[in-house]
Amino acid sequence: MDSSKNYKLYIDGKWTNSDSGETFPSINPVSEGVIGNFQKGNKDDVNRAVEAADKALEKWSEIPAPKRGIILLKVAQLLRENKEKLARELTMEMGKVLVEARGDVQEAIDIAEYMAGEGRRLFGYTTPSELKDKFCLTIRRPFGICGLITPWNFPFAIPAWKIMPALICGNTIVFKPSSDTPLCATRIIEIFEKAGLPKGVLNLVTGPGGTVGMSIVKHEKVRCISFTGHKDTGASILKEAGLKKVGLELGGKNGIIVMDDADLNLALDGVIWGGYGTTGQRCTAASRVIVHEKVKNKFEKMLVNRIKKLKLGNGLNPKTDVGPLINKKAQEKSKMYTEIGIDEGAKLLIGGKIPKMKGFFFKPTLFTNCSIDMRISQEEIFGPIVSLITVKNFDEAIDVMNSVEYGLSSAIYTKNMNKSFKAIEKIETGITYINSSTIGAEVHLPFGGIKHTGIGTREGGWTGIEEFSEIKTVYFDYSGKLQKAQIDE
Ligand code: NDP
Repeated sequence: MDSSKNYKLYIDGKWTNSDSGETFPSINPVSEGVIGNFQKGNKDDVNRAVEAADKALEKWSEIPAPKRGIILLKVAQLLRENKEKLARELTMEMGKVLVEARGDVQEAIDIAEYMAGEGRRLFGYTTPSELKDKFCLTIRRPFGICGLITPWNFPFAIPAWKIMPALICGNTIVFKPSSDTPLCATRIIEIFEKAGLPKGVLNLVTGPGGTVGMSIVKHEKVRCISFTGHKDTGASILKEAGLKKVGLELGGKNGIIVMDDADLNLALDGVIWGGYGTTGQRCTAASRVIVHEKVKNKFEKMLVNRIKKLKLGNGLNPKTDVGPLINKKAQEKSKMYTEIGIDEGAKLLIGGKIPKMKGFFFKPTLFTNCSIDMRISQEEIFGPIVSLITVKNFDEAIDVMNSVEYGLSSAIYTKNMNKSFKAIEKIETGITYINSSTIGAEVHLPFGGIKHTGIGTREGGWTGIEEFSEIKTVYFDYSGKLQKAQIDE
């Protein structure tokens, strides 16, 4: 890869410089070196992108959805052919270990294929009318121009979760990726270009969230905003978007309950994968372990022993278990939360330090004796830090699980079927796993959370279509006379 290369915006089917004349670097979190330079887009660039999306809209939305699906299948094929190269670049740009990076690209392939199939469904309803010689139905229509704003932690999967359904529904797009992963975003666009997507249908504007993101959010021609990221950013987007459709996928403070009858080895695998996979930088990361007092000591020891063996390093090395954090700020944030945890009186069992090596690494960290009111038990850290909270029984475990403002994902390890079902009913999250970790979304199922994790957005599956289309209700009268609903004659 050429680190001095200047990458461009993609507007109206052309690779172009920003009107700002400025660029910003994307940094490899392992080497701290520059991967490439990207356009620092501005409001004028967003305006150009919206105009291009507007111009392309009518033609694109008139293409039959199954035909739009064929382009998505081509994209899936190209992603598959380039999977290894893309996964390696992803690892270089954001640090995720290679096996997880492959998973990220695979998720983009899966959603492209799933949404291509949706092109042959896009179902509406038909229903009888209350009047004779009349029938009623609903159809799906695109919103128009969608503004998609994405984070860095799944730089292929999250854009794909938005781009694929938006396109199959007939929308056109202005896409603003995270400034930490503009290379991955550029690769996605290159693939769509190669697959033959008509010009103007998908436009890329890189640059700062406050400028590029906000200009998209406020643009009057943009009808739908789909955002994934931090809850504070989401809240300001909601405030500024005006009368647009807004979908928000925000943070999490997910928990795993380990009951006294749990298979502890299974739970151990789940906590390690959920807590330290992607260096804790998943919205569904398991950052709280809610453990029954009868197994607490044993489970704590098992965890410490396993954490000791986790190997930190470059994700391209197959022996690495845990990669770096995304940037210096994230590394400092993990350090800060470790200090907060210690000050609050939690017991640091292992980790809590920046290791003496180049890159934005942080040692996998485990706190115990945490209480629910501690900040480390409440706030999203987005780093490899797990808080262990001890409970006396099932009811207390549920209370602890629900004690946070977020409601994205949860898990319970138990062999008791009744408790499993009770947990499904009582836990306040959009996703619950039984005897499995808090992560592992499959693209044909709804994904999203409740409480401050969002405003009811569900991406993936059939609900992904609902996010990117509007319902039109149609009344078809073949009586040949004026019939009036609700009027007795
Ligand atoms: P941010 O909210 O910081 O950034 C997300 C995106 O929003 C980036 O593209 C960013 O641009 C942009 N942005 C920043 N400020 C504004 C603004 N004022 N107006 C419009 N856009 C803006 O989140 P992170 O990238 O740090 O991602 C981590 C967060 O994402 C965590 O809270 C995590 O839980 C959440 N997340 C949620 C998921 C879910 O499905 N629920 C999935 C994955 C992550 P720039 O990069 O230029 O600042």
